[in-house]
Amino acid sequence: MNRRTKIVATIGPASDDETTLRAMIREGMDVARLGLAHNTIDEGLERFHRIRAVAHDEGRRVGILVDLPGPKVRAGNFGETGVDVPTGSSVELRVGEDGSTSDVIEVDYDQLLRDIQVGDRLTIGDGGAILEITDKQIDKMLANVVHGSTLRGRPGVHVPSERLQIPTPTPEDFLALDAFVEAGVDMVAVSFVRSAHDMRRVGTEPHPRGPLLIAKIETLAAVENLPGIIEASGAVMVARGDLGNECSLEDLPHLQKDIIRQCIAGGRPVITATQMLESMITSPAPTRAEASDVANAVFDGSSAVMLSGETAIGSDPINVVRTMSRIACRADEEMDYEAWASKLAALRMTDGGAEPASVTDAMTMAAWRATAELGIKNVICISGSGFTVRSMARFRPEANILGFSTNEATVQQLTLSWGTMPMLMSTGGSNEEMVAEALKLAKGAGLVRAGELVGVLAGSDSRARATNVLRVESVP
Ligand code: PGA
Ligand code: MN
Repeated sequence: MNRRTKIVATIGPASDDETTLRAMIREGMDVARLGLAHNTIDEGLERFHRIRAVAHDEGRRVGILVDLPGPKVRAGNFGETGVDVPTGSSVELRVGEDGSTSDVIEVDYDQLLRDIQVGDRLTIGDGGAILEITDKQIDKMLANVVHGSTLRGRPGVHVPSERLQIPTPTPEDFLALDAFVEAGVDMVAVSFVRSAHDMRRVGTEPHPRGPLLIAKIETLAAVENLPGIIEASGAVMVARGDLGNECSLEDLPHLQKDIIRQCIAGGRPVITATQMLESMITSPAPTRAEASDVANAVFDGSSAVMLSGETAIGSDPINVVRTMSRIACRADEEMDYEAWASKLAALRMTDGGAEPASVTDAMTMAAWRATAELGIKNVICISGSGFTVRSMARFRPEANILGFSTNEATVQQLTLSWGTMPMLMSTGGSNEEMVAEALKLAKGAGLVRAGELVGVLAGSDSRARATNVLRVESVP
């Protein structure tokens, strides 16, 4: 089985023990995602170290992504059995975080009464209850339940993003960011981004020295400012849970396609996220619609597909990863590589047009053509920051991409890249030396065989600013 589309799985109480993690890695988890909304930083760090240790033990590269929750507003606890909030009923909304009932819903957002206006709609839970504000008083608001639901635990409250005055990342996000950057996390996702400026506020060192920054597209402002956000980010997530609350649901599939297209044109990995196999939180098999959703996300060009509650709190996280892997793998087989690359040739990286980038752009295109014409099965890309590898992946070549770097952080960040096997090499040096070592390592790992033709894409030496040498080599 050679799956090209990567799998990101969220780790939560259902999956953070060593045995489950080990099995999830074996079933194909490429990147583990740590959410922080329900945990302290220390608990998150403990999970981080456990995943690192298990991956190391398994001899598998697993990227670790920490997801900063941003200004996520939550309702006070409804309890585990759930509270029915019926359509047509009236509720009171108050600031607080003690507990909620079917009559009084508490919301942990201090500025609720200042920012929300009569006529605004709030959604509680992903696609759960919809409330319309009918009256504002000194200490509470009244709302009409337009669409009822049974609410459990502490569901998120979706406040329209143009009303939210809290900037992202929040002060709490920065505390978590510092701790995880210090621990050496590979990727950081930023929630509720509205502009490129929000991404720049993160302020970490550019990757690979700092983490690969992932912009979560889940506000309408982010959709409007997408080109700038893509440029300011290392990767992007189509965060359909919250985005689906901000846009009309019938627009969501098309936004997904459009965001993915723009990310690929910019050479950025893009993750399609949320509710992909939702029914598997409780069920051993997905719905037909979910199976189609995963396959279609692959056809749209997703670099990775993501599991959230399915693996964090679901009844069988291992089975979920196995199921997603099977569906994605089968969809990869059906992918029309030829059509894809011609489409991409028209979409080429237009941003900036700065010299090293445009040389790499042209060279990866040449590598795609050469490997396709010669029926080459493996293309070795040697890269410092991973830029060349990600540029190569844009073409969705039929050849496996062996993404080599001397930089451990780069290699870890490549776990998210489509069709890429991340590989660490030790020496820089001349083109000749780098190619010889990469070939030797690929052969040692059983990825290529003696006599086989491979494409090799690298710089003229380890300090070259752009990828400027393409070779076709026979494996010694
Ligand atoms: P979340 O982000 O799971 O952190 O809310 C993903 C989404 O909104 O789809
Ligand atoms: Mn979200």
